Amino acid sequence: MPKIVIAIDGYSSCGKSTTAKAVAAKMGYGYIDTGAMYRAVTLFFIQERIAFTNQKEVELALERIHITFNYSNQTGKNQTCLNGLNVEDEIRTMHISNLVSEVSAIPEVRWAMVAQQQKMGRRRGVVMDGRDIGTTVFPDAEVKVFMTAETYIRAQRRQQELLAKGELVNMDEIIKNIEKRDLIDTTRSESPLVKAADATLLDTSHMTIEEQVDWVIELADRRLAELHRKKSRKVIQ
Ligand code: C5P
Repeated sequence: MPKIVIAIDGYSSCGKSTTAKAVAAKMGYGYIDTGAMYRAVTLFFIQERIAFTNQKEVELALERIHITFNYSNQTGKNQTCLNGLNVEDEIRTMHISNLVSEVSAIPEVRWAMVAQQQKMGRRRGVVMDGRDIGTTVFPDAEVKVFMTAETYIRAQRRQQELLAKGELVNMDEIIKNIEKRDLIDTTRSESPLVKAADATLLDTSHMTIEEQVDWVIELADRRLAELHRKKSRKVIQ
Protein backbone atom coordinates (compact mmCIF):
# COMPACT_ATOMS: atom_id res chain seq x y z
CA MET A 1 0.00 0.00 0.00
CA PRO A 2 1.54 3.37 -0.99
CA LYS A 3 1.83 5.97 1.75
CA ILE A 4 0.27 9.35 1.24
CA VAL A 5 0.35 12.83 2.77
CA ILE A 6 -2.80 14.01 4.54
CA ALA A 7 -2.90 17.80 4.90
CA ILE A 8 -5.32 19.24 7.44
CA ASP A 9 -5.52 23.02 7.30
CA GLY A 10 -7.93 25.51 8.73
CA TYR A 11 -8.76 27.93 11.50
CA SER A 12 -7.59 27.45 15.09
CA SER A 13 -9.65 25.36 17.51
CA CYS A 14 -11.62 23.48 14.86
CA GLY A 15 -10.22 20.19 16.18
CA LYS A 16 -7.44 19.91 13.59
CA SER A 17 -4.73 18.60 15.93
CA THR A 18 -6.92 16.14 17.80
CA THR A 19 -8.34 14.79 14.54
CA ALA A 20 -4.95 14.65 12.81
CA LYS A 21 -3.37 12.83 15.75
CA ALA A 22 -6.14 10.20 15.84
CA VAL A 23 -6.10 9.73 12.05
CA ALA A 24 -2.31 9.25 12.14
CA ALA A 25 -2.60 6.67 14.94
CA LYS A 26 -5.34 4.72 13.11
CA MET A 27 -3.40 4.69 9.84
CA GLY A 28 0.00 4.01 11.41
CA TYR A 29 1.27 7.33 10.04
CA GLY A 30 3.45 10.00 11.62
CA TYR A 31 1.81 13.15 12.96
CA ILE A 32 3.30 16.63 12.62
CA ASP A 33 1.78 19.57 14.46
CA THR A 34 3.16 22.53 12.51
CA GLY A 35 1.41 25.05 14.80
CA ALA A 36 3.58 23.74 17.64
CA MET A 37 6.65 24.60 15.57
CA TYR A 38 5.56 28.25 15.16
CA ARG A 39 4.70 28.34 18.87
CA ALA A 40 8.18 27.03 19.76
CA VAL A 41 9.83 29.69 17.58
CA THR A 42 7.71 32.33 19.36
CA LEU A 43 8.79 31.01 22.75
CA PHE A 44 12.46 31.14 21.71
CA PHE A 45 12.11 34.72 20.43
CA ILE A 46 10.56 35.77 23.75
CA GLN A 47 13.15 33.96 25.85
CA GLU A 48 16.03 35.43 23.83
CA ARG A 49 14.40 38.87 23.51
CA ILE A 50 14.61 38.82 19.73
CA ALA A 51 13.19 41.94 18.06
CA PHE A 52 10.57 40.50 15.65
CA THR A 53 11.07 43.45 13.29
CA ASN A 54 14.85 43.07 12.99
CA GLN A 55 15.43 40.77 10.00
CA LYS A 56 19.10 40.05 10.79
CA GLU A 57 18.32 39.21 14.41
CA VAL A 58 15.49 36.92 13.31
CA GLU A 59 17.70 35.13 10.77
CA LEU A 60 20.48 34.55 13.32
CA ALA A 61 17.99 33.36 15.93
CA LEU A 62 16.45 30.86 13.47
CA GLU A 63 19.88 29.25 13.05
CA ARG A 64 19.88 28.50 16.78
CA ILE A 65 16.47 26.83 16.80
CA HIS A 66 16.11 23.07 16.59
CA ILE A 67 12.58 21.67 16.92
CA THR A 68 11.81 17.99 17.37
CA PHE A 69 8.82 15.90 18.44
CA ASN A 70 9.24 13.18 21.05
CA TYR A 71 6.79 10.60 22.24
CA SER A 72 6.65 10.43 26.04
CA ASN A 73 6.03 6.98 27.50
CA GLN A 74 5.14 8.66 30.78
CA THR A 75 2.25 10.76 29.48
CA GLY A 76 1.48 8.77 26.34
CA LYS A 77 1.58 12.07 24.45
CA ASN A 78 3.71 13.78 21.85
CA GLN A 79 6.00 16.48 23.22
CA THR A 80 7.38 19.43 21.32
CA CYS A 81 11.06 19.94 22.11
CA LEU A 82 12.94 23.17 21.56
CA ASN A 83 16.68 22.59 21.43
CA GLY A 84 16.20 19.31 23.27
CA LEU A 85 13.95 20.68 26.03
CA ASN A 86 10.30 19.71 26.41
CA VAL A 87 8.29 22.94 25.95
CA GLU A 88 4.88 21.33 25.35
CA ASP A 89 3.12 23.15 28.21
CA GLU A 90 4.84 26.51 27.76
CA ILE A 91 3.89 26.83 24.09
CA ARG A 92 0.16 26.29 24.78
CA THR A 93 -0.32 29.33 27.06
CA MET A 94 -2.38 32.42 26.14
CA HIS A 95 0.82 34.46 26.21
CA ILE A 96 2.23 32.49 23.28
CA SER A 97 -1.17 32.43 21.51
CA ASN A 98 -1.21 36.22 21.63
CA LEU A 99 2.13 36.54 19.80
CA VAL A 100 2.38 33.47 17.59
CA SER A 101 0.55 34.82 14.53
CA GLU A 102 2.77 37.89 14.44
CA VAL A 103 5.86 35.66 14.51
CA SER A 104 4.51 33.20 11.96
CA ALA A 105 3.81 36.03 9.50
CA ILE A 106 7.56 36.80 9.27
CA PRO A 107 8.68 35.44 5.86
CA GLU A 108 12.08 34.19 7.15
CA VAL A 109 10.31 32.22 9.89
CA ARG A 110 7.95 30.64 7.37
CA TRP A 111 10.74 29.69 4.93
CA ALA A 112 12.69 27.99 7.72
CA MET A 113 9.65 26.08 9.07
CA VAL A 114 8.31 25.08 5.65
CA ALA A 115 11.73 23.63 4.70
CA GLN A 116 11.80 21.58 7.93
CA GLN A 117 8.22 20.38 7.45
CA GLN A 118 8.94 19.27 3.87
CA LYS A 119 11.94 17.31 5.15
CA MET A 120 9.83 15.69 7.90
CA GLY A 121 7.25 14.50 5.37
CA ARG A 122 9.54 13.61 2.47
CA ARG A 123 8.94 9.85 2.88
CA ARG A 124 5.18 10.51 3.00
CA GLY A 125 3.03 8.51 5.44
CA VAL A 126 2.30 11.62 7.50
CA VAL A 127 -0.69 13.60 8.70
CA MET A 128 0.29 17.25 9.00
CA ASP A 129 -1.95 19.97 10.39
CA GLY A 130 -1.52 23.71 10.02
CA ARG A 131 -2.52 26.65 7.87
CA ASP A 132 -0.56 26.21 4.63
CA ILE A 133 0.11 22.50 4.32
CA GLY A 134 -2.10 21.89 1.28
CA THR A 135 -1.09 25.13 -0.41
CA THR A 136 2.64 25.58 0.33
CA VAL A 137 4.24 22.74 2.28
CA PHE A 138 2.72 19.83 0.34
CA PRO A 139 0.72 21.22 -2.59
CA ASP A 140 0.85 17.64 -3.94
CA ALA A 141 -0.72 16.10 -0.81
CA GLU A 142 -3.04 13.27 -1.83
CA VAL A 143 -5.66 14.25 0.76
CA LYS A 144 -6.44 17.85 1.65
CA VAL A 145 -8.96 18.89 4.28
CA PHE A 146 -9.87 22.46 5.14
CA MET A 147 -11.52 22.76 8.56
CA THR A 148 -13.75 25.51 9.78
CA ALA A 149 -16.25 26.03 12.61
CA GLU A 150 -18.32 28.83 14.12
CA THR A 151 -16.17 31.29 16.10
CA TYR A 152 -18.13 30.90 19.35
CA ILE A 153 -17.84 27.13 19.25
CA ARG A 154 -14.12 27.35 18.55
CA ALA A 155 -13.71 29.71 21.52
CA GLN A 156 -15.61 27.32 23.80
CA ARG A 157 -13.32 24.48 22.75
CA ARG A 158 -10.21 26.62 23.34
CA GLN A 159 -11.50 27.63 26.77
CA GLN A 160 -11.97 23.98 27.75
CA GLU A 161 -8.50 23.13 26.51
CA LEU A 162 -6.92 25.92 28.56
CA LEU A 163 -9.00 25.01 31.59
CA ALA A 164 -7.81 21.41 31.41
CA LYS A 165 -4.30 22.83 31.73
CA GLY A 166 -5.26 25.01 34.68
CA GLU A 167 -5.56 28.35 32.85
CA LEU A 168 -8.92 30.09 33.27
CA VAL A 169 -9.45 32.64 30.48
CA ASN A 170 -12.73 34.44 29.82
CA MET A 171 -14.62 33.96 26.54
CA ASP A 172 -14.19 37.58 25.41
CA GLU A 173 -10.42 37.34 25.58
CA ILE A 174 -10.42 34.02 23.73
CA ILE A 175 -12.75 35.28 20.99
CA LYS A 176 -10.57 38.38 20.56
CA ASN A 177 -7.47 36.20 20.26
CA ILE A 178 -9.11 33.84 17.74
CA GLU A 179 -10.36 36.74 15.58
CA LYS A 180 -6.99 38.49 15.69
CA ARG A 181 -5.14 35.31 14.72
CA ASP A 182 -7.64 34.60 11.90
CA LEU A 183 -7.08 38.09 10.54
CA ILE A 184 -3.27 37.92 10.64
CA ASP A 185 -3.23 34.33 9.29
CA THR A 186 -5.54 35.08 6.35
CA THR A 187 -4.00 38.41 5.32
CA ARG A 188 -0.25 37.84 5.65
CA SER A 189 1.77 38.09 2.43
CA GLU A 190 3.66 34.80 2.81
CA SER A 191 1.51 31.64 2.50
CA PRO A 192 -1.70 33.01 4.00
CA LEU A 193 -4.40 30.74 5.38
CA VAL A 194 -6.60 29.94 2.40
CA LYS A 195 -8.47 26.85 1.28
CA ALA A 196 -6.56 25.03 -1.49
CA ALA A 197 -8.73 24.72 -4.61
CA ASP A 198 -8.60 20.92 -4.34
CA ALA A 199 -9.20 20.73 -0.57
CA THR A 200 -12.45 19.35 0.84
CA LEU A 201 -14.23 21.66 3.27
CA LEU A 202 -15.21 20.29 6.67
CA ASP A 203 -17.34 22.35 9.06
CA THR A 204 -16.82 20.81 12.49
CA SER A 205 -19.24 23.08 14.40
CA HIS A 206 -21.64 20.28 15.20
CA MET A 207 -19.40 17.24 14.91
CA THR A 208 -17.76 15.13 17.58
CA ILE A 209 -14.06 14.32 17.34
CA GLU A 210 -14.94 10.69 16.50
CA GLU A 211 -17.10 11.87 13.58
CA GLN A 212 -14.31 14.12 12.32
CA VAL A 213 -11.78 11.28 12.50
CA ASP A 214 -14.09 8.87 10.66
CA TRP A 215 -14.79 11.51 8.00
CA VAL A 216 -11.07 12.04 7.28
CA ILE A 217 -10.31 8.31 7.32
CA GLU A 218 -13.12 7.69 4.83
CA LEU A 219 -11.75 10.41 2.54
CA ALA A 220 -8.24 8.93 2.82
CA ASP A 221 -9.52 5.40 2.13
CA ARG A 222 -11.36 6.59 -0.97
CA ARG A 223 -8.22 8.36 -2.21
CA LEU A 224 -6.05 5.30 -1.54
CA ALA A 225 -8.50 3.08 -3.43
CA GLU A 226 -8.47 5.55 -6.35
CA LEU A 227 -4.65 5.53 -6.43
CA HIS A 228 -4.66 1.74 -6.29
CA ARG A 229 -7.12 1.57 -9.22
CA LYS A 230 -4.99 3.96 -11.27
CA LYS A 231 -1.87 1.89 -10.58
CA SER A 232 -3.60 -1.40 -11.52
CA ARG A 233 -4.89 0.16 -14.76
CA LYS A 234 -1.34 1.22 -15.67
CA VAL A 235 -0.02 -2.33 -15.06
CA ILE A 236 -2.75 -3.84 -17.30
CA GLN A 237 -1.99 -1.37 -20.13
O1 C5P B 1 -2.41 25.32 15.23
P1 C5P B 1 -2.12 26.36 16.27
O2 C5P B 1 -3.30 27.15 16.70
O3 C5P B 1 -1.34 25.83 17.42
O4 C5P B 1 -1.15 27.39 15.52
C1 C5P B 1 -0.67 28.53 16.16
C2 C5P B 1 -0.42 29.62 15.13
O5 C5P B 1 0.69 29.27 14.31
C3 C5P B 1 -1.56 29.94 14.18
O6 C5P B 1 -2.48 30.86 14.70
C4 C5P B 1 -0.81 30.52 12.99
O7 C5P B 1 -0.57 31.89 13.21
C5 C5P B 1 0.51 29.79 13.02
N1 C5P B 1 0.61 28.72 12.03
C6 C5P B 1 0.96 29.04 10.74
N2 C5P B 1 1.15 28.05 9.81
C7 C5P B 1 1.00 26.77 10.15
C8 C5P B 1 0.61 26.42 11.46
C9 C5P B 1 0.41 27.41 12.38
O8 C5P B 1 1.09 30.21 10.41
N3 C5P B 1 1.23 25.82 9.22
